[in-house]
Amino acid sequence: MAAPTPTLEVAPEDTAITPVDDYFSWGRYPRAVHRSVKKIYWQDEIPRALRDAQPASMLAYGLGRSYGDVCLNDGRDLIDVTGCNRILGFDAQTGVIRAEAGVSLGELLEVIVPRGWFLPVTPGTKFVTIGGAIANDVHGKNHHRAGTMGCHVNRLLLYRSDCGPVVCSPTENADMFAATVGGLGLTGVIGWAELRLKKVSSALIDAETILFRGMKQFLQLCSDSDAEYEHTVAWVDCFSGKNFRGVFFRGNHSERQGRVRAKKSSPGVPFDFPEWLLSGSTIRLFNSLYYTAQKLKPRRATIHYDPFFYPLDSVPGWSRVYGRRGMLQYQCVLPEEHADALEHMMALITSAGHGSFLAVLKKFGPVTSPGIMSFPRPGLTYALDFPMRGERTLRLLDRLDEIVSAAGGAIYAAKDARMSPEMFQASYPRWQEMRHFLDEKFSSSLWRRVTGA
Ligand SMILES: Cc1cc2nc3c(=O)[nH]c(=O)nc-3n(C[C@H](O)[C@H](O)[C@H](O)COP(=O)(O)OP(=O)(O)OC[C@H]3O[C@@H](n4cnc5c(N)ncnc54)[C@H](O)[C@@H]3O)c2cc1C
Repeated sequence: MAAPTPTLEVAPEDTAITPVDDYFSWGRYPRAVHRSVKKIYWQDEIPRALRDAQPASMLAYGLGRSYGDVCLNDGRDLIDVTGCNRILGFDAQTGVIRAEAGVSLGELLEVIVPRGWFLPVTPGTKFVTIGGAIANDVHGKNHHRAGTMGCHVNRLLLYRSDCGPVVCSPTENADMFAATVGGLGLTGVIGWAELRLKKVSSALIDAETILFRGMKQFLQLCSDSDAEYEHTVAWVDCFSGKNFRGVFFRGNHSERQGRVRAKKSSPGVPFDFPEWLLSGSTIRLFNSLYYTAQKLKPRRATIHYDPFFYPLDSVPGWSRVYGRRGMLQYQCVLPEEHADALEHMMALITSAGHGSFLAVLKKFGPVTSPGIMSFPRPGLTYALDFPMRGERTLRLLDRLDEIVSAAGGAIYAAKDARMSPEMFQASYPRWQEMRHFLDEKFSSSLWRRVTGA
């Protein structure tokens, strides 16, 4: 029997609200059909949009760089905040900047770097909005030193449907602040946020690349580097077995002045790659070539921040290489004493005939994350991409969950499209506290999936 066609309530033409099926998440799985998407350009449009919204119907959408369904609201409404993209104030002496939530990290960098400042925390892409970075309380390569993005937010303005705009900070409406940072967009719409930036001397990074083998060497490199290097992360060849090979990247903002031009973006990926290109052997070959390429690079180099922090941004639309069915990213964190569980995961992935182009390993530090539902916590975080191959892929990820769960670990909601309610609730043990702070007009595909709300 054919699946029933979703009924869409079409709004009157003059309201600029139209049913939409082209708002995706980065993994392009799952697909969603939204009843409406309202793009706003001025913050004063937010209260009206909230007033008119039905209960549990609304979700803010940034640049859709979350991989799964945390930024989707299937069958319901989105409010696209990327039009609210003004910088409202910047004190170049103190490095405090206030910007609307739709400003991207890339747009911020263009303004702040020439004035000697940098983002306090950045994820692996700069095509992320401030609102999205706070709602997922994102982390970067400097987690061991700086914690998450939420640690650097002085205050933010939150629009709620029940009580209008509320200023929240670690000292003012502190409980609402803790629910909004890492709150997956469910406490309302962030209008603006004030961030404390990091002072830098230039746009340059003194970067170092070190080849390593196995978990023991990886952990040694982390402890050797944590005090001296602000940024550390490793790439791992997930096909290379128990004594896996990897490349450790570490770096600091350079004291050197001078200009190094950022590499131009490539033309991008204009179409979905065919599925046969994504066989285990292609992915294995890619891993081998990538390792060899890193081996040939000089160990030390002073480079622009773009290739250091955002290597994938130079290939626009790269997730299309995973084909029409999209991809799933899997990111977990495990207590360090259960590092062996990562080796089991790698063995399981290889024996299941799967593999990942980009498997990333990082040791999170001890800084406490400020959000009730923030993901980062001390331990080892491991992130992998998988082409979506239906049930086979979903079964593998369930088995990885079993390993993570037995080791007392957690899954990152910003990357997830399929974890079970049990896995979510074990990953975010304080999730029930969110019930006091949820805005009744907000919901998301992820939230309904993992809580049954
Ligand atoms: C290549 C790549 C690398 C990445 N690397 C990392 C990494 O290193 N570390 C990391 O932590 N993450 C990483 N991510 C994930 C990404 O940083 C997060 O998913 C981020 O939240 C996406 O922001 P966005 O603006 O695209 O928001 P969206 O994906 O559109 O939305 C994310 C969440 O934010 C909410 N939201 C958006 N705007 C607002 C607002 N104004 N008010 C309230 N809620 C809002 C949405 O409702 C949703 O719940 C990476 C993603 C990619 C594609």
